[in-house]
Amino acid sequence: MSDPPRAAEFDLIELIRRRVATREDVVLGIGDDAAIVQVPVGKQLVIAADTLNRGIHFPDNTAPADIGWKALAVNLSDLAAMGAEPAWCTLSLSLPTGDPDWVGAFLDGFLALAAQHRVALIGGDTTRGPLSVSVAVHGFIAPGRALRRGGAQVGDDVWVTGTLGEATGALTQWRAGAIVDPVLRARLDRPTPRVAVGARIVDVAHACIDVSDGLLADLRHVCDASGVAAEVALEGLPALPELLAAFETQRRQAIQATGGDDYELCFTAPAEAREAIDRIAAESATPITRVGRIVAGQGVRALRADGSEWIAPSAGFVHFA
Ligand code: ADP
Ligand code: MG
Repeated sequence: MSDPPRAAEFDLIELIRRRVATREDVVLGIGDDAAIVQVPVGKQLVIAADTLNRGIHFPDNTAPADIGWKALAVNLSDLAAMGAEPAWCTLSLSLPTGDPDWVGAFLDGFLALAAQHRVALIGGDTTRGPLSVSVAVHGFIAPGRALRRGGAQVGDDVWVTGTLGEATGALTQWRAGAIVDPVLRARLDRPTPRVAVGARIVDVAHACIDVSDGLLADLRHVCDASGVAAEVALEGLPALPELLAAFETQRRQAIQATGGDDYELCFTAPAEAREAIDRIAAESATPITRVGRIVAGQGVRALRADGSEWIAPSAGFVHFA
């Protein structure tokens, strides 16, 4: 086997710089010691950062373009959960070899999603080491308008965008050595950050989080921050037909409730907001499903159709646990 092609750090940076799109509010992009940007008057900056490590955040056989897409998607999902409008990002790459073909394919996925959301890549870092991708995104919000975890109120409905469980369904099949359904795999590799929905629900939602560690675990964060409890109806969790076909009901519901890697939004809103939320779902062509309600107390209870409580085998993904 011949060694993969290598390029020096500055050749890779040049390869990246040549391909990035800019925006009017980027005063100085890639190429100097730091980037300079213009924050719109009257807006606050919202910042999120997330890292993907090989073998932990994506299977070893993930295509470079999919790693690129996902590295940005998980970050945009965090901005979406705040209701912010994304603008800029940085990219820190740790690469085992300086393979320009790998970087090119990575950029195909990364920049495709960046273009969809008009996000400009304005800087980063390129080093040698185990494969790791660290992205930070910056976006705007009007002062005081951001959706936080702490605003849920007793009586609120609990909603989720899109569908739950497909990503973990794909991982489950992959770990079992089974044939992975391509639709499930696409949900694992190319999550859809719900940026448009996030921006629209700021007017009606009381609290919001994105589902990365599993619905019950992430909703628990909302409840803890808000000093309330939640009840979730297991049989009402939205799923794609491919997930329904791939797992029997109990297994599937466990995956949907605890799986994670969905990058859907989970938010709470008062009952008066139901019509507005249905409208937002229609306008943004994104299903939004009512899955539970906020009650007094502590913790999250998942309920079966007969009203009995379902106890999750584990509470979600925790690093270092
Ligand atoms: P310095 O040594 O001053 O940190 P670098 O050589 O690391 O400079 O980076 C030079 C320029 O290239 C900077 O503008 C930096 O933000 C940008 N850059 C480096 N790596 C990346 C990357 N992976 N993606 C985008 N921009 C990058
Ligand atoms: Mg540097």
